[in-house]
Amino acid sequence: MNLGALPQKTIKAAMPCRGIGVHSGARVAMVLQPAATDSGIVFRRSDRGGACVAAHWRNVQESPLCTTLTNREGVSVATVEHLLAAFAGAEIDNAVVELDGPEVPVMDGSAEPFLFLIERAGIVEQDAPRRAIKVLKPVRVADEDCTAALEPDVGFSVSFEIDFSSQRVRRQDIALSIDAETFKADLARARTFGFLEEVERLRAAGLARGGSLENAVVVSDGKVLNTGGLRYADEFVRHKALDAVGDLYLAGGPIIGHFHGVRSGHAMNRRLLEALFADRTAWCRTTLGATEMAEAANWASGARAARA
Ligand SMILES: [Zn+2]
Repeated sequence: MNLGALPQKTIKAAMPCRGIGVHSGARVAMVLQPAATDSGIVFRRSDRGGACVAAHWRNVQESPLCTTLTNREGVSVATVEHLLAAFAGAEIDNAVVELDGPEVPVMDGSAEPFLFLIERAGIVEQDAPRRAIKVLKPVRVADEDCTAALEPDVGFSVSFEIDFSSQRVRRQDIALSIDAETFKADLARARTFGFLEEVERLRAAGLARGGSLENAVVVSDGKVLNTGGLRYADEFVRHKALDAVGDLYLAGGPIIGHFHGVRSGHAMNRRLLEALFADRTAWCRTTLGATEMAEAANWASGARAARA
């Protein structure tokens, strides 16, 4: 290993959990398992003969409301984004996620239960340098009023703006430099959300069958219906930032750069990665070094101090 390079990481032990898929309503048993260096995050369907689907943007299949991965044989795993966000936040490079169903359990609608599983499993350093994708020039994709963009930065940072017509949500924005500490404190607990008015429409479309107040913030008539209210005053925009962190981990490793999203969603986040990798001058592979990360950490604590 290069002197000063940060090591890749995996989890120390297998860690099982159970839950339901928010869209399929299916009960799923899932086991997070350690994996070898340079293998990345791989999903394995034990109910489909052990078929594997790599967590890579090229495997993303267009699907409404969540990120679904599909391999060449057509075997899929849905709703991977919150688990991937937890792996990104905990800086786990390699893991196998074994499932006996078609969808990652939604748990409480946030990344916190997955982060808890990873912490309980323990994290182990591996004998290979951590590889990242460094953004070299701005890349942007946009639709009418949605934008997703990446630009060069010293570490990984995310900013996001949303603007919903619901008076409870309206305009919210957030900007954060992301490391294990800020991810856990500022994003991991933010839950997915929906509007009660949409639920009937989603159910009719065969979606959100497992959705409930146990795994989503539900807004109706400008009010949050969940007892206990919100976990952060701006939980909605924090969840959108969490989704982006998970989606961007499909780059195949951590990104060194700044992500900016305006009302962006899973489909647009995928288009952004496609646009980044289509331009060979917009990115390069690099090994994450201790010096580089110290610089990013300094910058991050400076940014935290400036906000405080
Ligand atoms: Zn989400």
